[in-house]
Amino acid sequence: MTEIKIEDKQEYFTNEYPFSNPPKLTEKRECLHCGETIIIGDFKVFKDNSNNEYICCPNAPRCDGTVIDWMPSK
Ligand SMILES: [Zn+2]
Repeated sequence: MTEIKIEDKQEYFTNEYPFSNPPKLTEKRECLHCGETIIIGDFKVFKDNSNNEYICCPNAPRCDGTVIDWMPSK
């Protein structure tokens, strides 16, 4: 997995968010993999050998959580 730099994080996140209604980048989520509260806008993007891109936890590569592992924080 290779980290790629995103110029416009808002645009990227809105386009690539896997569910409907992308949240704001300023919102917080709890990552189920590392258990930490993260700010959505701190996301990282990694690309695998097949050029699939993943919206990953800000704690990547220490954490292997992706956007689908983020739950509303308490
Ligand atoms: Zn995480």
